[in-house]
Amino acid sequence: MLQLRPNCEWCDKDLPPAATDARICSYECTFCAECVETVLFNVCPNCGGGFAPRPIRPVRAWRTGVCLEKHAASAQRVQLKWPREDVAAFVRGVRDVEPAKR
Ligand SMILES: [Zn+2]
Ligand SMILES: [Zn+2]
Repeated sequence: MLQLRPNCEWCDKDLPPAATDARICSYECTFCAECVETVLFNVCPNCGGGFAPRPIRPVRAWRTGVCLEKHAASAQRVQLKWPREDVAAFVRGVRDVEPAKR
């Protein structure tokens, strides 16, 4: 199950569960769309994978027991663990390989 992390690891923008600009990699590293497009160029700085829009969990239980109230979003903010200058070099080395071929 997705944790639905609360912020962008790069710019710390709030990304609440209903945010349409939240992007995640396969490990659920979470960034905002602007950082993915203008800083990361679709390269996750933690794993090298590409990003996809984060799905939005329904607020109400359309089906019994499955909704945001039952499975709450994470409140634990995540900060980037790599130095920013290292990320730039990392991204340069990966961005020209399309995600399906990484
Ligand atoms: Zn951001
Ligand atoms: Zn990742």
